[in-house]
Amino acid sequence: MRKYVIMGIQGSGKGTQAKMLAADLDLVHISVGDIFRWNVQNHTKLGAQVRRVMAAGELVGDDLVESVVRDRLTQHDWNFGFIIDGFPRDPRQAEFFLESYDIDGVIELDLPDSEVRRRVLNRRLCGDCGLDYNLIHHRPAVADVCDVCGGSLVARPDDNPEAIKSRLADYHAKTEPTLELFRKKGLIVRADGTKPADEVYQQIRKGLGLA
Ligand code: AMP
Repeated sequence: MRKYVIMGIQGSGKGTQAKMLAADLDLVHISVGDIFRWNVQNHTKLGAQVRRVMAAGELVGDDLVESVVRDRLTQHDWNFGFIIDGFPRDPRQAEFFLESYDIDGVIELDLPDSEVRRRVLNRRLCGDCGLDYNLIHHRPAVADVCDVCGGSLVARPDDNPEAIKSRLADYHAKTEPTLELFRKKGLIVRADGTKPADEVYQQIRKGLGLA
């Protein structure tokens, strides 16, 4: 059973790397952002609670985030373990998490702010199947159309310059101190998020002692 956390600034490739590791090790990939986005798209009560906060690029309140994570993890569908992406994002969330779960490793993806803006503003998502694209390295064959399901590609509502500014500020003020907490416990494995995805993945495997 392996329990990992993946952390990194927006656009650092957290989702991509988490999916690769989950597929390799049969882990359940839990993305708190995806859970919120699903709820927004499906007009649930939770979706209505988080929609505005998310679109502004602000953080959802700790109580709500913690209850979503607790509910998700109590489903216990993670026989071989899990990799959680987008949580914890502040020291309080980290403490809540460390109290309940023994973590095997925390992956930190490094990316400079200038690269974050470039990547995030070029990020697109299929509105139907959710596949990720970016207009720099992974363009669809036909502009704005998903290669796999033919759905329309859209930008996330929080991938705009104002929201990015707010998310970067939160990352530096709240998420970096969280990383410090994990660093003190010797849990951090760092990878260079500027490198191509396969290279980043090899760094992660090596850092986790899986290579
Ligand atoms: P992400 O897909 O990880 O970038 O998350 C999208 C948005 O969901 C964030 O900008 C926040 O509004 C919200 N969110 C996701 N995870 C958390 C968290 N751990 N704490 C607070 N808000 C979160």
